[in-house]
Amino acid sequence: MTDIVHVENLVKRYDDLIALDHFNLNIAPGEIFGLLGPNGSGKTTSINCILQLLAYDKGTIELFGEPMTPARYDLKRRIGVVPQQAVLFAGTLRENMQWRKRDASDEEISRALEIAQAAEFVSKLPEGLDTMIQQGGRNLSGGQRQRLTIARALVGTPQILILDDSASALDFATDAALRKALRQKTRDMTVFMVSQRAGTVRAADRIVVLDDGRIVGIGPHSELFETCAVYREICLSQMNEEEAAG
Ligand code: ADP
Ligand code: MG
Repeated sequence: MTDIVHVENLVKRYDDLIALDHFNLNIAPGEIFGLLGPNGSGKTTSINCILQLLAYDKGTIELFGEPMTPARYDLKRRIGVVPQQAVLFAGTLRENMQWRKRDASDEEISRALEIAQAAEFVSKLPEGLDTMIQQGGRNLSGGQRQRLTIARALVGTPQILILDDSASALDFATDAALRKALRQKTRDMTVFMVSQRAGTVRAADRIVVLDDGRIVGIGPHSELFETCAVYREICLSQMNEEEAAG
């Protein structure tokens, strides 16, 4: 099967700093794929290169089996992205949700809110989807904003969903419920989940471990935990031994 995301020998430098050193990625359609690495390891840089938001020094990137170039906006439209610093804009909640698809129906928006674990708090807003969101979403909590930016990326049912540390403001239970809903309700969607939290990616089909711009491991949790020292160390620093091994 052709990879839906294929990255080969990607090299990205910021002046003297090598942010990505021969980075590879091959994600199969429908896969839930994790990218784990500490702060500064190159995770966001890899996403920005894949989306052609950032020029790179070397490497090939293919999406949906086709070469990705800055001009291929048609390919980009098939991807839902939740950037690390995602922002909501001033306008109604509905307008915010129609960001990827202008004519998205309330029904479609509700489904996205449901998956993103935002349906419950939105249902309690007196004005529902007509609620005015202030610039930057200042009238919402960090966790609520994050859930809405995830819902927004799901509207229009992208073929690939990219989450860049997008569960960082969620409590562990909400993070887990979100992952469960993504797996159960968006079966065909390919999910690329980027995080510095091992708990967020551990249930992924496969995880790539990034350390200082280099890939140091790839595989499912149980395999990496046995074979990849960096992965094991990250797990043990974030969970107790039983949680990490289980
Ligand atoms: P992560 O998302 O894993 O935290 P980043 O991709 O943001 O990592 O950063 C990787 C490395 O590149 C870090 O050392 C960071 O300081 C550096 N870096 C990121 N963006 C820039 C930039 N625009 N200019 C210079 N260095 C950068
Ligand atoms: Mg980042």
